[in-house]
Amino acid sequence: MKMRFRFGLVPGLLFAAGLYAQVDSIALRYAGTITPHELREHLTIIASDAYMGRDTGKEGQKMAAAYLKDQFIKAGIPPVPAPDPAMIVDGYFQPFDVVETRSGTITLEKDGRSYRYGRELIYFQETLREGEQVNGLVFVPARVQLPDARLNGRAVWMDADGRKGLAALGSLRSRMDALRTSGVALVFVSIEGISDVMSVVHVEDTRMRLADQKQQPDKSAREPQVIIVDKAAMNSLIGRALPAKWNRKKKLVEVPANFAIHVTEGEQRLTTENVLAYIEGTDKKDELVVLTAHYDHVGVKDGVVYNGADDDGTGTVAMIEIAEAFAEAKAAGHGPRRSVLVMTVSGEEKGLLGSRYYSDNPVFPLANTVADLNIDMIGRRDSAHATSAPYIYVIGSDRLSTGLHDANERANSTYVKLDLDYTFNAESDPNRFYYRSDHYNFARKGVPSVFYFSGVHEDYHQPDDDVEKIDFDLLHQRTLLTFHTAWILANQEQRIVVDRP
Ligand SMILES: [Zn+2]
Repeated sequence: MKMRFRFGLVPGLLFAAGLYAQVDSIALRYAGTITPHELREHLTIIASDAYMGRDTGKEGQKMAAAYLKDQFIKAGIPPVPAPDPAMIVDGYFQPFDVVETRSGTITLEKDGRSYRYGRELIYFQETLREGEQVNGLVFVPARVQLPDARLNGRAVWMDADGRKGLAALGSLRSRMDALRTSGVALVFVSIEGISDVMSVVHVEDTRMRLADQKQQPDKSAREPQVIIVDKAAMNSLIGRALPAKWNRKKKLVEVPANFAIHVTEGEQRLTTENVLAYIEGTDKKDELVVLTAHYDHVGVKDGVVYNGADDDGTGTVAMIEIAEAFAEAKAAGHGPRRSVLVMTVSGEEKGLLGSRYYSDNPVFPLANTVADLNIDMIGRRDSAHATSAPYIYVIGSDRLSTGLHDANERANSTYVKLDLDYTFNAESDPNRFYYRSDHYNFARKGVPSVFYFSGVHEDYHQPDDDVEKIDFDLLHQRTLLTFHTAWILANQEQRIVVDRP
């Protein structure tokens, strides 16, 4: 989908309406401080191995936070004058606590022998919070109709009956759903060749949530714990081999069984931080234009650093340059009329945690927040644009406010002239990108938000997302588009309004 300027045929009218694309020479002057060279310098540092993939709450992320703060200080940006000073630490940080949960906290145990996650067991969700003793199982043959009220509250066992690997699990899916509605507490599924499943299923080693975020207890309380067990291990847990004829039965089979389930404490509390640069406005300083990009990435796995140069090193260095440009303008008496908050957020890769925290605990009132311009990955080309003219995906600009959409279009047609690609802005976009980066936490609070993105590529969330693969001319142009859109929003007479449901 491509949108064109609606009044393109009547330029005279436009001029009268003040919408004509006039070049603002002052904006252009400070845009000139944003250079491909400086973008490269910053990115080469924060996306180097020394920064250890900037994992949330870990040393690399802390180093990146310190680097960002240093850049804001060098740009002459004073500490954030938060209305509530307790919200800001060290002048530039908004700290928040997260809880990291290790996967693999459930172990089965019988006669002094342990059966562990990744070895004899696998599961995709941990809903068990405390250990239990299993005293008896109900074997559910494939021919037994489900749901079955007699299974309510019971520990049940199903067997893949010779089918192997993922196909076995797939074939059991509808039976599992029926077990859920039967109210079972625990489900053991025995399959042969569990290592085949482990080799293809990627289970994150850790998960993270905000410390003050509820764990949806109602949902997990109703969800049974499903544990997939290697068939040989299941045999030793129940002390006998599964008789082949059981799978043919038409009735439930009560199975004597006696083993323990241990759940270890896999939680660790960490502190992480958003890093803020606030450039105070002039005559409209109570109103605020926010720019965001996440500076965290996924860290180190198996000794390999995931540098996240594009994701979202590019957005991060764009933030540094945009903050500097506004600060320079302000120092020369050309500061923005509205205030500008450049915020690099943490915890994005763990579930948009930093932006979620800010939007629930805003340093400046959301009611006065005009818009959020968010950048996440703007340094490369995707396969759809391998040889196209310079482009950018624009997502969400018109969802809440035509004013935001128009400001972005105007900034582009006046200064940058990128191909604006609205493919992912479609409500029906199966990728649901609109919901997948930090702007969404502002949009869900009713703040008009736009997401700039250059698309996924083969190195997305891979160790090879490196600086050498960044197209700095494209990164530069896309940064300029964001800067000019912010400049318009911060300086135009009328604040943009929410005019879409
Ligand atoms: Zn990202």
